[in-house]
Amino acid sequence: MTRISMFGFTGSIGTQALSVIEKYQSKFELDVIVCNKNINLAVELIGRHNPKNVFVTDADARSEIMASCSSEINFFDSMHTLRQYLKLNKSDIYLSAVSSFDCIDLTIEAAKSGKKLLLANKEALVVFGKQIMHECKQAKTEVIPIDSEHFSLFTALKNKDLSEISKIYLTASGGPFVGQKLSELHNKTPEEALKHPNWDMGAKISVDSATLVNKCFELIEAKHLFSLGPELLDIKIHRQSVIHSMLEFKDGSVEAQMSQPSMIIPLAYGLLGGYSQDIKKDFSLDLLNRNIDLSLEQFPDDRKKLRDITLDVMNSEDNSGLVFATLNDIAVKKFLNKKIKFGDIYNLILDNYYLIDKKEVNSIQELESNRIEILNLIDGK
Ligand code: NDP
Ligand code: MG
Repeated sequence: MTRISMFGFTGSIGTQALSVIEKYQSKFELDVIVCNKNINLAVELIGRHNPKNVFVTDADARSEIMASCSSEINFFDSMHTLRQYLKLNKSDIYLSAVSSFDCIDLTIEAAKSGKKLLLANKEALVVFGKQIMHECKQAKTEVIPIDSEHFSLFTALKNKDLSEISKIYLTASGGPFVGQKLSELHNKTPEEALKHPNWDMGAKISVDSATLVNKCFELIEAKHLFSLGPELLDIKIHRQSVIHSMLEFKDGSVEAQMSQPSMIIPLAYGLLGGYSQDIKKDFSLDLLNRNIDLSLEQFPDDRKKLRDITLDVMNSEDNSGLVFATLNDIAVKKFLNKKIKFGDIYNLILDNYYLIDKKEVNSIQELESNRIEILNLIDGK
């Protein structure tokens, strides 16, 4: 039996992972699953997948979910008890798929496990990448990136000599507003921003994809996952999301990694322990399909200031990633609650990033208190 713990089981990534697990029920045992407050979906999924332990962060939602579930399921009453449990009871596989960086301490526990970490939660790498990768290395935890570009690099970079590579490109679909100028985007609504052409994802990452902040986060993510220098990494727009990454070698030749745009591919690899013949019939790429368009475009010039911040984060050892991600988090929440316009997401980040003093952050406690400082600073404006 493979024991699995899953942080963010009600989300887009979490439910897709559960759909893979369901097909191989006899192989897997769900140990701990975590969500925030999606009561109806949580009750349905708990009833269907029968986990041993559940943690629901929101206390009111927890009571309601608990009342609707079998009394044989253990519900943790605090993050502290959950963490104590995780320290003593190891799973074979951890899926870190909470949106944003609220449960980063759970990702750290998984990183320290010495087992396998399927890492979807990119914000954790943006704000604490060096420390997370350090913990993984110390404990010999295997990391499988659950992000299409990084999963493709994970396979592409195997047995490659980095000194022979001149550039590594991540592709970006460009989101729902691809091809439009920044000046045309100011009044875009949440409904428009959430309509991603290729992927069905949670709200936060969908907005990040529409602003292209997601791709900036992904450069930072790639730097940490594969220990790459910022100068090696670049972005190309590829609207169809069939090419996920490309390696350009010193002689100018290019190797592209292609697949259908589906997160089941990296999830099945991580959960089933390698490439699985079973998913081929649903997810193989029809190379004879004349509608496959492999064309590429430049990352838009009018988003250069975001790229500059990204480069600054990649060249820093301090809390720059936390500042970037927290400002973005605040802005995306305000936008989704219709408190600010789409264009103000950029303004909030660009107006504040350089003004905030940067400092070293070495522990989760420091990270959390620094995050609250930034929240208060922006709230007080
Ligand atoms: P969703 O918004 O669909 O799901 C988020 C999950 O996190 C839900 O289970 C939610 O619980 C849970 N959650 C949120 N806040 C908390 C909290 N404070 N405590 C406990 N649980 C919490 O997000 P996605 O699945 O789309 O994305 C998850 C992560 O994976 C993100 O970091 C994203 O960037 C990354 N990713 C996603 C991809 C995708 O295709 N979706 C692709 C690549 C990366 P509840 O439902 O109860 O609120
Ligand atoms: Mg991605």
